[in-house]
Amino acid sequence: MTTFAPYATFERYREDMPVKFSDKVVLVTGAASGIGRAVVTRLSAEGAATVRVDLAAEALKAAGSDVSVGADSDLVCTLDVADESSVARAVETALQRFGRIDVLCNNAGIASSRKTATEDEPAEWQRVFAVNLLGAVHFTKHVGRAMVTAGRGAIVNTASVAGVRAGAGGNAYSASKAALINFTQTSACDFGAHGIRVNAVCPGLIETGMTQSTFELARERGKEDRLGSRCELRRYGRPEEVAAVIAFLASDDASYVTGQALPVDGGNSASLNLPGMKV
Ligand code: NAD
Repeated sequence: MTTFAPYATFERYREDMPVKFSDKVVLVTGAASGIGRAVVTRLSAEGAATVRVDLAAEALKAAGSDVSVGADSDLVCTLDVADESSVARAVETALQRFGRIDVLCNNAGIASSRKTATEDEPAEWQRVFAVNLLGAVHFTKHVGRAMVTAGRGAIVNTASVAGVRAGAGGNAYSASKAALINFTQTSACDFGAHGIRVNAVCPGLIETGMTQSTFELARERGKEDRLGSRCELRRYGRPEEVAAVIAFLASDDASYVTGQALPVDGGNSASLNLPGMKV
């Protein structure tokens, strides 16, 4: 049976929560759903003021009930992260409202189809790279300038195990996440001398909007237990479990960690996962 210790219930997760983000302003992209929504829930419960960015206006509004801080400490921006002028305007608005941005979570992302290398279409590659890579590049540029002026900050990018190994996503998606991991390293070098840390998480299979159809199909066929069964922990993950690691990397607990890409994948990327090798 699938279990989710130690966060068996969301209530338990909230009870155990330390408070590490009071007086911090956190900007999260892809905040309307899945991992981004869980990051907002977690960090606002830990005291952060939030700037919530997403393309999906209605979902972003609905996700507002997760925000623990008052309406005065929550700014909502509906935009496409691939559009640099919209990103620049949103960052400017957030800075006018809060005076600073302490934490940036570049989390918005889209999947790609599973076309093979002989079928891949440039238009799909361009859109996937525009969202998954350039979205992070734009926010890092505009928020990063303010962080340099402040002389501090933490950036956490949501990459993927697909950016580390083949088999976890389509070609364009995997390549965009590999590029995001590399951008995490190069921007960590650019910002290190300014006291700004840049890290990434590499989630494995997590139940979110992006993977909804996979989960629905598996449940329809009575095969939910197979999802994530080749991970060392023998299960898939939940958005809250990724949000907890993002919270760590964004916090002062990770004050000597930068340029790293940390798998949050139940051990998936640590093993060869050969069929028939596991009980
Ligand atoms: P999700 O679909 O639930 O959330 C993604 C959010 O990003 C959505 O709210 C969507 O509206 C938003 N978004 C998409 N394109 C956007 C754009 N152009 N501008 C602004 N917002 C946009 O999926 P999720 O799994 O929570 O995805 C979050 C991140 O986690 C993504 O970068 C994804 O690649 C990564 N990830 C997910 C998994 C998984 O198994 N779910 C695994 C590894 C990595």
